[in-house]
Amino acid sequence: MTPEEIKRALKRILPTVQKPGRYTGGEYNQIIKDWSQTSIRVALAFPDIYDLGMSNLGLAILYDILNQQPDILAERVYTPWPDMEAAMRQAGMPLYSLETKHQISDFDLLGVSLPYETLYTNALNMLDLSGIPLLTIHRSREDPLIIAGGHATFNPEPVANFFDALVIGEGEEVILEIVRCLQEWRESGEPREALHRTLASIWGVYVPSLYHVHYQENGTLSYIEPAANEAQFPVIKRIVPKLPPSPTRLIVPYVDITHDRISIEIMRGCTRGCRFCQAGMITRPVRERPVEEIVNTVEQTLTTTGFNEVGLLSLSSSDYSPILDLIREMKRRFSDHHLNISLPSLRIETFSIDLMDLLKGTAHRSGFTLAPEAATKRMREIINKPISTEQLMATTREIYKRGWHTIKLYFMIGLPSETLEDVQAIANLCKAILAEGRLIIGKRARVHASVSTFIPKPHTPFQWVPCDTIEQIKAKQDLLKRQLRRHGLKLNWSDPRGTMLEAWLSRGDRRLSQVVLEAWRQGARFDAWQEHFNHQAWMEAFESVGLDPAFYTHRERPIDETLPWDHIHAGVKKQFLIEDYQWSLQGQTRADCREGCYACGILTKYAETRRRHPGKLWKCPEVRSPNQ
Ligand code: SF4
Repeated sequence: MTPEEIKRALKRILPTVQKPGRYTGGEYNQIIKDWSQTSIRVALAFPDIYDLGMSNLGLAILYDILNQQPDILAERVYTPWPDMEAAMRQAGMPLYSLETKHQISDFDLLGVSLPYETLYTNALNMLDLSGIPLLTIHRSREDPLIIAGGHATFNPEPVANFFDALVIGEGEEVILEIVRCLQEWRESGEPREALHRTLASIWGVYVPSLYHVHYQENGTLSYIEPAANEAQFPVIKRIVPKLPPSPTRLIVPYVDITHDRISIEIMRGCTRGCRFCQAGMITRPVRERPVEEIVNTVEQTLTTTGFNEVGLLSLSSSDYSPILDLIREMKRRFSDHHLNISLPSLRIETFSIDLMDLLKGTAHRSGFTLAPEAATKRMREIINKPISTEQLMATTREIYKRGWHTIKLYFMIGLPSETLEDVQAIANLCKAILAEGRLIIGKRARVHASVSTFIPKPHTPFQWVPCDTIEQIKAKQDLLKRQLRRHGLKLNWSDPRGTMLEAWLSRGDRRLSQVVLEAWRQGARFDAWQEHFNHQAWMEAFESVGLDPAFYTHRERPIDETLPWDHIHAGVKKQFLIEDYQWSLQGQTRADCREGCYACGILTKYAETRRRHPGKLWKCPEVRSPNQ
């Protein structure tokens, strides 16, 4: 279909679907380039609805970087909601880009963001709606190059059969290398395999079709074999030595989106070493953006967007060395803007009273979020989050004293060696904090407990441990439901079946690709949405493929077992993860390596990058504040 035909069809369809603003494009700051004058066309996809995709900072950064190139255009595409998908299929209308309404199959490259695993069936659905073969082996020279990136790709095997290539790590620099590689190949006339081999030689690019997987009798992996000279082994995570400039011309959406604000990454990486946290392991080393650069970027973006809120993003913003300087400067520079400053993920240890006072009047009064994750000293030592209960209680008292009414607490159940007493302790701690709040602000005090379920993620010290079964999770959730359902206390928990899906997809091997494909054929879509998650489709898919889901989740994996993601190197040595896992079994904690390096492997793995970028790079062990 031509863009004109798509526009005509949209005129008929949009009045019949929910939130038509998701499908129109035309927003302020979108970038439109002349297709006849631009040699390479890239479609950037988020495999969920516009409301979520538009809040994805990673895609906004790539959109900005690609469109800065005169000979490259980048346009956006999101998954249509089921009503729109039905209308499109009925009208025979393919998936299209928001900017110019070109069908996705007209693009040279489709880049799919995969921050989490439960987006996989939507990604397949986008390929199907675009008329692009779902399997890499079925694609011709005319089909766009299909690549993916995002944290979920650190175990790329469950989606290995669907992507020509996957970016392992940070995309800001490698995306241009991939596009230039594609450009040369297009002019070469060579077969698609030649493109695969060239891509496979780029640092941080994994081309699954060039690796063969061998299994043991018992179903575990025997080894993964690179089947081409260009195939790196292992594929080492890509990093950028210095955080590139943050985009300032953010697109202003027509419909409400999840984060309707300016988002700017103030720091990348975290060295706290929480053992369940995959992000903390795969985003090392820590790199901080200078205060001046952050404030100038916010100033520019305010003028180009009109947003009145800014999200200062990182894995643990209170660990950003000059955090107080930053908030002070923001308050000084934007004192007449009534700017709301949100600082997600504050760590209890470094969350100072000064910071709390500084945030008064700038941040939403809705509530304060803290993440103790576990309620007993023993469990917090096992997960390496050694905060004392006294420290936690003292911090919550200060929060209530400063006028916040609601404290949101993140906990996790299903952690290694957890007992029902540890779960009971979560309820006790929430009640104790509420009681303290009531002493300070009376009945207005609220405690909101959000309890997720632990999944042993690849590239973490816990990657060998099994998950709780659905029955075990339900028993623990029932205990909390009985205890935390009363005035002033609120409980959120995640659906155990949804947790299992995420666990299968993050711990699976290449055979899971068949399960994902079969589940999609059985109608699985929007798996991240509880009301759409189709558990039956997945169980039938496992059965039809002849795989036992429990093999991936409820089995302790021996330390010497070849893991499906062992050929992907996240920069942290496997030996370091083994040591840290063994430390956890003894309840031995490890301080933040900013206070002293543990040689996790980052230093050695990126020594060459460090040598080529002197002074720009992180300073493991001590991170130099950019203002010194
Ligand atoms: S190399 Fe050292 S300082 Fe750097 S992240 Fe690893 S343990 Fe921390």
